[in-house]
Parts: sequence; C-alpha cells; structure tokens
Amino acid sequence: MRITVSVIKADIGSIGGHTLPSPEVLAIARERVERAKGSLLIDAFVCHTGDDICLSMTHTHGVDDSRVHELAWQAFREGTEKAKAQGLYGAGQDLLKDAFSGNVRGLGPASAEMEFEERPNEALIIFAADKTEPGAYNLPLYLAFADPMYSPGLLLSESLHDGFTFHIMDVNHTEGDRVIVLPAPERLYDIAALLRDTHQYVIESIWSRRHPSEQAVAVATSRLRNIAGRYVGKDDPVAIARVQKIFPATEEFGPPFALGAFVAGDTRGSHNLPLMPVPINTSASTFFCVPMVSALGFSMHNGILSTPADLFADPFWHHVRDRVAAKAIEMRKQGFFEPATLPYSELEYGGIVVRLQRLDREFTIRDGKAEGAPVGTPAGVEGDNPA
Ligand SMILES: [Mg+2]
Repeated sequence: MRITVSVIKADIGSIGGHTLPSPEVLAIARERVERAKGSLLIDAFVCHTGDDICLSMTHTHGVDDSRVHELAWQAFREGTEKAKAQGLYGAGQDLLKDAFSGNVRGLGPASAEMEFEERPNEALIIFAADKTEPGAYNLPLYLAFADPMYSPGLLLSESLHDGFTFHIMDVNHTEGDRVIVLPAPERLYDIAALLRDTHQYVIESIWSRRHPSEQAVAVATSRLRNIAGRYVGKDDPVAIARVQKIFPATEEFGPPFALGAFVAGDTRGSHNLPLMPVPINTSASTFFCVPMVSALGFSMHNGILSTPADLFADPFWHHVRDRVAAKAIEMRKQGFFEPATLPYSELEYGGIVVRLQRLDREFTIRDGKAEGAPVGTPAGVEGDNPA
C-alpha cells in the first residue's frame, strides 16, 4: 500500500513571548486535523516543539496534495484566530500570505513529505526543531547515513553497505529548487564540503542505493526570509526519516543528535548555540531560546500510526541535555562576539543591518576623503523580536 506521510508545521502564536502555543490553540489545530481522519486523512498526530505546532498526517494522495495542504493551512488559520483573541505573541507569525494557493510551501509553514510503499513493519521518525534553520539536520543526518563511526549499520548490514544518495539543495537560490545529487561513500568529501555550510546547502532528501526507489529522509528546506524578503522568524524545520532494515536503526540517530552541534538560530535568530534534543511538547527555553529538536518514533500499518515513542525522553537524554546546556552557557559568555553571534552575512535582524549601513558611510580612507559606497547587506527591516 502506497502511503504518504505529510508533516507540516507553523508558529501561529505563543504565550508570553516565543515559548509554546496555548492549549486552546493547540486543541483547535488538533480538532481540525482529527476531523479529517477517515476521509481525507488516514491518521494524524498533533504536538508542539517550542512555539511550533506540528501536524503529522498520513494519507494516500501523494506529496504536494492541495487538499492536505489546505487542511493544514485552515487548521493554522483557525488556530491563529484563537491566538489573536488570546493576545498571544506573534499570532499568525508563520502565515506570510493571506490566501491559500495550492501548497503551503511559499506561504510560510514548513513541510516535509514522503510517499512510499509501506513495509509490513514500517518504522519512522518525525523530527521537529525550533529556533533554528533547515541546515541544523545536516550534521546528524550526514553522520547517520554516511559515517560508519556513528552508523555501524554501514559496516554490519548488507542492506546499508551500498550507501545512500544525498539530494542537497542550495536554499539561498530563489529561482526554483537548485539541487545536486551525490552518492555516498564515493562523493563523501564533496558531500561534506557542501553540508558544512549549513546556511546555504541543506539535505533535502536521502535515498537508498541498494533499493533506489526507497526514500529514507525528507527535510523541510524552506527559509522564511527567502519568502518574506526579511527576517520574520527562524525556519524551525521538520524532517521524516524511515528507519530499520534497509535504513539506519532508530538508535543510530541517537549519538549524532547527542553531539549537540552548534547551529544558527536562538534569540532573534542571530546566534549560534548547540542543538538540544528534547521531549515533545517542550516549551522553548528561556535560556536564550537554545535551539531544540524533538523526535517521535512511530510504527505504521496501512497508514495507521501507533502511539509515538518520545525518542529523546528516556533517562539517558537528561545527561545529554546537561552537557548541551553547559556548551550553551559557555558560548553565551562571549556575548555578541562571533561565533556566538552569526556572521554579518547571516544576520537577519533589521536593526543592526541598518546600523552597519549607517556606520559604513562614516568610514574614511586615511587621506581624509569619505570612502563612500556602503557594503552589501542582506535585506532587512526593524523587526519586532520574532524567534
Ligand atoms: Mg519556532
């Protein structure tokens, strides 16, 4: 049976800043999606990570189905009305356009989707991240699918031994999807050369080489600033990974995420802090909005989802979080100095961009003449503290 898994998320408002959605807003989104079970949808699960509501849906209509996307859009619109009525901060923040136009991509919400022939014991992980960008998945997915130091299945399992094909997108290219397809392990160094730049090159999907029609991973790759033309909040990407048998095992994703790699995001979307694995339905941290990621493990049969396993909730992750918190505290001690703050090219917050343009005009060369032309700057306007 061919099943499509559609994971669509948005930040439509949260309590007391960029923390978590209200129970009432979450209930509206959940009810709207649950109502479609048995008709448009086979099954669904709704949760939040930080301030982002994540709709995980199964159906048989393929990726980019306009009815499924419109269902998610309407759930977020109705939730936004409640968020506005409650005075929640950033109500409707990720809904960048007024009208639905066939697909949520380009409208603000992030989506990761995958259609596949369901295995008899289909196992998959749904990742949801907050306060960060799509490139936050680059390192953990590279390690899980291409590095035998982290993913012993590449050595131990005949099914994985042929490696995987990486589809990598240039997310700063605004005219169409610019993608390169590279096989691992043959092109490992080329894959690494791209993925190290997490602001520009992002894993869009990963495919089995032993079974070329089998997709392993789908990542939401949209960058909100490319849609809005200015900073309106971090992208907070979702991702889907099929696991076990011809794919890495669930537990082979653990050590890559336990690294707590430094990623862009955090307060005002302008800093680097380690990515902290958290249980689902965790509020964003008041420690500088440290980037966070949750992972839901599902079994699925005929599109029906099991109760999820909350994969970063078992006791081991308390220790990981302590270590990640220590990394975050150390990094924050150096305040606004790079790399604690993002490089100029990635600063998305309007105020400092305008300030640096003004300062640039005050520079003079040593003979006393004004130097003149301002440096190139990213588009930006004064924001109202989206995160
Ligand atoms: Mg968010």
